[in-house]
Amino acid sequence: MKRLAILGSTGSIGVSTLEIVAEHPDCFRVTALTAGRNLALLEEQINRFSPEIVAVPDEENAKRLRERIAADGPQILFGTAGLIACARESQANMVVSAIVGAAGLEPTLAAVKAGLDVALANKETLVVAGELVMSALKSSGGKLFPVDSEHSAIYQSLKGHRREDVRRLILTASGGPFRNWSLEDLQDVRPDDALAHPNWTMGRKITIDSATMMNKGLEVIEAHWLFDLPVDKIDVHIHPESIVHSMVEYVDGAVMAQLGIPDMKTPIAYALSYPERLSLDLPPLDLCRLGKLHFSAPDSQCFPCLGLAYEAIRRGGTTPAVLNAANELAVEAFLQKKIAFLDIPRTITTVMQRHTTTAASALEPILAADQWARHAAKSVIDDLQGASYT
Ligand code: NAD
Ligand code: MG
Repeated sequence: MKRLAILGSTGSIGVSTLEIVAEHPDCFRVTALTAGRNLALLEEQINRFSPEIVAVPDEENAKRLRERIAADGPQILFGTAGLIACARESQANMVVSAIVGAAGLEPTLAAVKAGLDVALANKETLVVAGELVMSALKSSGGKLFPVDSEHSAIYQSLKGHRREDVRRLILTASGGPFRNWSLEDLQDVRPDDALAHPNWTMGRKITIDSATMMNKGLEVIEAHWLFDLPVDKIDVHIHPESIVHSMVEYVDGAVMAQLGIPDMKTPIAYALSYPERLSLDLPPLDLCRLGKLHFSAPDSQCFPCLGLAYEAIRRGGTTPAVLNAANELAVEAFLQKKIAFLDIPRTITTVMQRHTTTAASALEPILAADQWARHAAKSVIDDLQGASYT
């Protein structure tokens, strides 16, 4: 019986994880749940899965939640300390890291340092602090299991092969809703257009990241840290059907891939139950009905975010943390209709240009760079606001 602490339980990944738990009650018990603002759903989850600890972002929400649940219900904590306690002190032996954004870093790092296994959906953790997390992992003996579908595919395609025989990784990307749009068309994109992803149903931030292709950029950085390969050996192919989830090419020309219908339950379940496979009630992949699969190169002019991510990891140190923070603010500003779609890469470019890179082997400089980038991005957004969005 695996004991799970699920951070970000009310999100898209969190809800899918709990659906898997509900399908396999003999395999899992939930010890902790954490959520942002959706208290109604969190309350439902508490009643159904009986965790020992829960955490919400602030004291006000903790108070409101306490009034809604039974007196003999779970301990209710709040803030980053609450998230860390859920990760570390709930008797879990696996932490599902499914908070969105850099907010997931500290509890994930705490879980890694405590030597717990982590099912990692929160890719921002590795983008912001890859060096720190991977070195903590080495000393603690904990294990990281990728939830991201591309990284799960690579993880599976590496099994049984020697790392030194890898020529390159090929991450696939759906290309998002604007795959064939021109730069001119992209100027008028509205949040609702960008939120309509063709293949996946996900949280709002990652859906916008998919539309700008920053999601793939973050995933290149995530793959660099997870699989210990230079980014020069990590390529991206556009694959609109999202059936081939990613590939590994070996020195003899052999290419291993993992395929499946686009449903996050498969990679989540694999991370939860590795090395076993859980049976899931999903429709089978029907390649004969699909007939054709397509691949093409990404368009770097229309989607500069992918190139910005490569640039950030090549600069190294605190630059990926700055890229991530500037992106988080720009995406939020776009969703609030303060800036235009193409202002997202503009904001990130300007903030990265203003940043002086420092080493990122400790938490303090990373958090400082994250805070600096948020201030810098806010000022760029204030300047852009009104200028380009009508
Ligand atoms: P989501 O927005 O649906 O859910 C995010 C969860 O985090 C929610 O429970 C929310 O309440 C919580 N949260 C948000 N901000 C918080 C904060 N400041 N403090 C504490 N909790 C906070 O997001 P999602 O789509 O489930 O994605 C979660 C993570 O998984 C992201 O890093 C994303 O990139 C990654 N991921 C998601 C998918 C997917 O299909 N959704 C696929 C691969 C990777
Ligand atoms: Mg992915």
